[in-house]
Amino acid sequence: MRILFVASEAVPFIKSGGLADVVGALSKVLHQMGHDVRLVLPRYQDLDSDSFRLLPLMPEMKVQYGDETMVGSVLRCSYPGTQMPVYFLDEESFSQRPGIYGNGRSDYPDNDKRFAFFNMAALWLLKGLDWQPDIIHCHDWQTGLIPALLRHHPVVSQEAFYQDIKTVFSIHNLAYQGNFNKFLVPMIGLPWSVFTTDGLEFYNKTSFLKSGLVYSDELVAVSPTYAHEIQLDEQGAGMAGTLRSRAVNLHGILNGIDIDEWNPAVDPLLAKDYKIDDTKGKAACKAALQKEVGLPVDPGTPLIGMISRLVSAKGFDLITKALESLLQLDAQFFVLGSGDSEYEEIFEQAAIDHPRRFAAHIGYDADLSHRVIAGSDMFLMPSYYEPCGLTQLYSMRYGTVPVVRHTGGLADSVFHANDQSIEQGLGTGFLFDDYRPDVLIETIRQAIDLYKNEPKKWNHLVKNGMSRDFSWANSAEKYVKLYETAMAAKPKPAAEETKS
Ligand code: ADP
Repeated sequence: MRILFVASEAVPFIKSGGLADVVGALSKVLHQMGHDVRLVLPRYQDLDSDSFRLLPLMPEMKVQYGDETMVGSVLRCSYPGTQMPVYFLDEESFSQRPGIYGNGRSDYPDNDKRFAFFNMAALWLLKGLDWQPDIIHCHDWQTGLIPALLRHHPVVSQEAFYQDIKTVFSIHNLAYQGNFNKFLVPMIGLPWSVFTTDGLEFYNKTSFLKSGLVYSDELVAVSPTYAHEIQLDEQGAGMAGTLRSRAVNLHGILNGIDIDEWNPAVDPLLAKDYKIDDTKGKAACKAALQKEVGLPVDPGTPLIGMISRLVSAKGFDLITKALESLLQLDAQFFVLGSGDSEYEEIFEQAAIDHPRRFAAHIGYDADLSHRVIAGSDMFLMPSYYEPCGLTQLYSMRYGTVPVVRHTGGLADSVFHANDQSIEQGLGTGFLFDDYRPDVLIETIRQAIDLYKNEPKKWNHLVKNGMSRDFSWANSAEKYVKLYETAMAAKPKPAAEETKS
């Protein structure tokens, strides 16, 4: 099968969140399974082009944007350790600016133009390569115009070259939608007939996300529970109706993790390695982490780690409301993250006020994230919503017990611990439902009680998590089946889906 991945981020090249982990790991696994997989990314300034040995491939890539001809180029390299081709679309609005979506303070105001270039150039690239994929797998709003262009762009939709290509659109986070000025439609050569409420219009804006939701052949949400939740009005971010209308094509597949990168038995970033049948090294990792982040080195006090974008959707409004009470508990907390300045300041202040209980590293640090996952006893993730979540999966693999809210992928991956479920080998963490500070505090208290008073049960719980298989193998098979479904479907007449 020939599969083109198009995404705005992918490890190991460029990452701001879980999207990058998924795109990098899933494409690699599908390639290892023998499929002809290729990946297209924008060429950002922050990309380290020397270490990835980018070579020029096409000196000129022209894209028409209204009256303007945008001129870029294409570079290529192989995905590290494989023969998988990776193409980088180079245009100055990507390669001459820092960051991915913005400059750290706000998003770039011309993201519509930047990513319109990216979507169109990804399609033109295929003709330049003379390589016809069976499937284009698009990820999140940044790639959402591709399915619309394939079906409705007057040139693309008529060209035999593009006729048989099917599209799969992955929803990593419905809250990010790429809604822009409606005049983007003619700028990229699409007819106004797509600008309807059944098409890519969203409250008089052109929505990249909605374009992906409406015009792709199949849709995937990154966990089964999230696939269900986003069809409910309360959690559908305005897209629930659209998603319900596509319910037959909407699937939920839980993300996997890269078990080579995340393996406590061989992780070079840890103070000491450990594995399920010999977890002694974990204590050394905890002591090293306590030392590194300036908390008292104390094996008996549970260390609760957090690694996240600091935004309220990840539950930080709940944590800050509960903070005074949490700091009374017999535990230590460590936060690694950056995001809303309100939370950054609260955590920095808490670290100053309670140096024996609380520490924070404001920023992004991939190496430290491994040491936090390994050195913590518990991992806290009280998200308001969580499409999949990866850090709870890393945590279980590293013997760190997740304390999470029962939503999205957290509900699909963590099994609530009680005497019986631990004994049966099922329980892997602590879950709570109500999004309330008192419920959060009570759940953490339960976890601390078990940790302190029932070490045998705690060890059993740790091992239950470590024995889970969160590798991509399982989920990658599900994607292959989905691609086959998309390929078997008859083409949809263009007239049918734009009538309103
Ligand atoms: P999201 O994509 O919504 O941010 P996920 O849990 O799916 O959340 O993925 C987040 C990814 O980003 C994980 O790999 C996590 O380890 C990483 N991450 C988030 N914040 C930081 C940080 N401050 N430093 C290092 N890694 C981080």
